[in-house]
Amino acid sequence: MTDDGTTERQYHLDGELVPASAATVSVDDRGFRYGDGAFETLRAYGGQIFEWEAHADRLERTCETIGLEHGLSRTELARRIDETLAANDLEDAYVRLSITRGVQPGTLTPREDVDPTVVVYVKPLPRGGRSGDPVWDGPATVQTVKRRRIPDAALPVDAKTHNYLNGILARQELYDADEALLRDMDGYVAEGTTSNLFFVDENGLHTPTTEGSVLPGITRKVVLELAADTGVPGHEGWYRPDDIREADEVFLTNTTWEIRPVETVDGITFEGEDGPVTTLLSRLFDQRVEDVCYAPS
Ligand code: PMP
Repeated sequence: MTDDGTTERQYHLDGELVPASAATVSVDDRGFRYGDGAFETLRAYGGQIFEWEAHADRLERTCETIGLEHGLSRTELARRIDETLAANDLEDAYVRLSITRGVQPGTLTPREDVDPTVVVYVKPLPRGGRSGDPVWDGPATVQTVKRRRIPDAALPVDAKTHNYLNGILARQELYDADEALLRDMDGYVAEGTTSNLFFVDENGLHTPTTEGSVLPGITRKVVLELAADTGVPGHEGWYRPDDIREADEVFLTNTTWEIRPVETVDGITFEGEDGPVTTLLSRLFDQRVEDVCYAPS
């Protein structure tokens, strides 16, 4: 119980459920010192983690990329998530699973013996989608920023690590916009700070290729699958800001937002929530969530 009489949330820390106020990490933790950790943001719908295998695959890839051998199976990680959801009596939730290289005081060079810090953080997040209330306040306003996406050669873009300074600096440039659009070092459109970008023109659906400086978003993957299923041609390519400006519809995707329509990019207005392809894909996304999480056969 907290002072105001509400029940305190429980988080999973290194294999134990602990009250939120006691869920603390050492100042010597490499996740705190250097951002030396991997994480996934997930959503639970009706108590089921949506796209768990895809998230677990990406986490595994991130850990492999940064050479972090945490020694936990994906079954064990899933068990800890389920236990945390149950302890908090949550079925519809935001879930964050973080694994850092743990407490290793001393040098920047990581030691081989890793005692990872493993945290499962949860908070209530209603289903949202088109039938409920979306988690976002309204369609996004997007601004192209000067800050460039870190090139893959400097920091592998398919690794989802604790270090978000690139995105934080991009967000600090925003003037009256919700999300920053980053280009790569050659000026090609990459992605948002925490989202992938899609646009629709007369040739179909487009999104920057993951051959570029783009995190392979799980929501991006689902949207491309849904588009393929319905016959909307989906293209993964290299695009310039002008390609976006000339589009009919633009939307952003991430695990928390799902499909978030975009109202403006750099002051240019798009069809937003009423765009036919955005509407169609949002409905199909909702249906996918319904089928796999709420009403699995
Ligand atoms: N790009 C970046 C940089 C992100 O941080 C995120 C959020 N994880 C995404 C894209 C979207 O990924 P996902 O759909 O897996 O949430």
